[in-house]
Amino acid sequence: MKSTKPGSRRKKIILYYTLAVVLPVIVLGYFAYRGIRNDQALREKENMRRLEISSQAFFSEIDSSFVKFMYELTNDSIFSGAGKVDPSVLLFFVKDSSGSKKLIAHQLLYLPAGLLTIEPEQPGLSSSLKEGSRLEFVERKYAQGLRFYQEIILRTTNQEEKIQALVASARLYNRMNQPDKAKTLYYEMQKDYPGQLLNGQIPLVLMAGLEIMKINLASQEIIELKNNRKQYLKLLLNPSCEYSPDQFNMFYQSFKEIIPENDPVIDSLFQQLDTQRARTDYLIRILTEPELAFSNVNDHLIDSKNEISSKPVNSSDLAAVFISWSKNNDTQTGLVIDFPAYMKSISEKLISKLNPDSSINIKIEDDDGKLIFSKVLKEETSYLSFPFPKNLPDWKLLLSENRPGFMTTLLKAGSGIYLFVFILIALLMVLGFIFTIYTLNVELRLNRLKSEFISNVSHELKSPLTSIRMMTEMLHHNRVGTEERKSAYYSAMLEESEHLSHLIDNILDFSRMDDDRKKYDFTDLDLDELILRFLESTRERLAEPGLDIRYNCPDRVPLIPADKDAMLQVIYNLVDNAIKFSGTSRQIDISLISKDDELQLCVKDYGIGISSKDQRLIFDRFYRGDEPQRLGIKGSGIGLTIVQKIVEAHRGHLTLESKPGEGSTFCVHLPINKNVE
Ligand code: ADP
Repeated sequence: MKSTKPGSRRKKIILYYTLAVVLPVIVLGYFAYRGIRNDQALREKENMRRLEISSQAFFSEIDSSFVKFMYELTNDSIFSGAGKVDPSVLLFFVKDSSGSKKLIAHQLLYLPAGLLTIEPEQPGLSSSLKEGSRLEFVERKYAQGLRFYQEIILRTTNQEEKIQALVASARLYNRMNQPDKAKTLYYEMQKDYPGQLLNGQIPLVLMAGLEIMKINLASQEIIELKNNRKQYLKLLLNPSCEYSPDQFNMFYQSFKEIIPENDPVIDSLFQQLDTQRARTDYLIRILTEPELAFSNVNDHLIDSKNEISSKPVNSSDLAAVFISWSKNNDTQTGLVIDFPAYMKSISEKLISKLNPDSSINIKIEDDDGKLIFSKVLKEETSYLSFPFPKNLPDWKLLLSENRPGFMTTLLKAGSGIYLFVFILIALLMVLGFIFTIYTLNVELRLNRLKSEFISNVSHELKSPLTSIRMMTEMLHHNRVGTEERKSAYYSAMLEESEHLSHLIDNILDFSRMDDDRKKYDFTDLDLDELILRFLESTRERLAEPGLDIRYNCPDRVPLIPADKDAMLQVIYNLVDNAIKFSGTSRQIDISLISKDDELQLCVKDYGIGISSKDQRLIFDRFYRGDEPQRLGIKGSGIGLTIVQKIVEAHRGHLTLESKPGEGSTFCVHLPINKNVE
């Protein structure tokens, strides 16, 4: 016969299991993985395409916004100087076929002579002031000169004349060492004539300011000086009139030289002025040599019908776009816009049009990688970079898809189903594996217990049979001397055979119960009487090892519906166990307790007790406790299983209290007056 050791059987099952389940799961898992990867690659490709289309739409939207912007700017009101020009417009001019240029709007700090819209008047004093000038500069009679000017201030109706007289008076106060009076006069002039230009070109406010600062410096009025300086620098940054480069430079230098002391606000104002100057110089170049700007514009057409084009005009301080419109070649309109400012002003509109559901994250970076604009819903690492087209500055548009969460992607993706099937199968596999191993272990344990049972039962049967045989032989050969000993032999043989028959009863009952063949014959049973009869019949067996069996019962014991033989077997098995496992103790207490609705039969011993681990297992078929096996106490492991089955058939239950080394109490709880089938 082929050996089927439990170990090899387990290995075989695991092998079959691996072949039947694990391998297909691995193959399926592999396909699921490939499916998902392919899907991912496809989605990525699709994403890239979508982003590419978005970027193209984005750029063409900028172009059409330029065209619209150009149309709006060339409307009549702006051309005539009445309309308000967008702050991103740096320069807006028209050049006709003869080459003459008209500046419509600009953000220049100063203008070259040819482009000044206001022609400077010839500097000169009005004739009525000539006398004052003679007194001041030729005769140096300052007090007389001052009186002369003050008279003019009082009586003149000509504003220009009055202002010149005021300026001269302040100057004379200064010469006469009365700086405070001079300063007051300058402040008054600033207040009364804020927009006034001296000789039609120099802002009175700044000129007076310069004089005030000189007085501040001479009188060491440092705080006032600093404040004035800041204020006038700001005025220089936002010119309210047109300067020639020389005029601007004069103020710039004067302001710079006044006080060399460091001040962060003043430093930054000078820095801004420097940037603006560089920009102005650059823009003036475009303005004075427009051919440069208009060259190759046809390569950058954004509206071919109307010949509107845009191209980048970048200097180190400026990212600008030159938009040009050539109308029938006789006039050319040129527009330089501050690209960052323009983009900021239109970006929201641009994005809401292109990306209304915000599914795309957008970033715009300039040529130095500086972030100009960003509209990011969820920070993503993988941005696709699209360089701005040639007609725009060398910037970058960074786009990324706003990806949904992993689970959403999976749910959406067709191949996600593979993953779910895979997870399901893997889960089933794990559960199946656990279940198989569990069942296998239970089966193997039962097998082991069965074979132990067979050897235990054989031993149990063998020892009473051997002693009966020995005694029979002795009696048969007349080797037993006295009648007294003969009778002892007979009763011992009777007892052993009774024990044997109980053992066999147990085995037969067990097999009947196991396949539900056991039949019960319920009658009204007096349990007290049954116990007494049991004690009587086994008195000698019990008395022999010097056992002290005490029996306690109430005065009146109610009858219960029960099978007499089965109950006897319960009593026998429990008492037999109590005797077997009493160890050195000699006392056993049997008691009957009558409660309201149940009768309790308890068998208590003071023997070896049962460990808590064994307490959970001893009712299992064939199970025998560790301690009895260690002590070599014989048994088959079916006694308690039979007791439990009988008690359950009587609709009762069993309880156990035990402590190792202190003994055990088994109680059978049987219902009174309950219909039992
Ligand atoms: P057996 O007595 O033939 O071994 P049982 O089914 O009657 O089989 O008992 C199962 C196990 O329960 C015993 O092996 C023993 O470990 C434990 N047991 C039963 N009764 C007692 C008891 N009174 N004291 C200690 N252990 C007990």
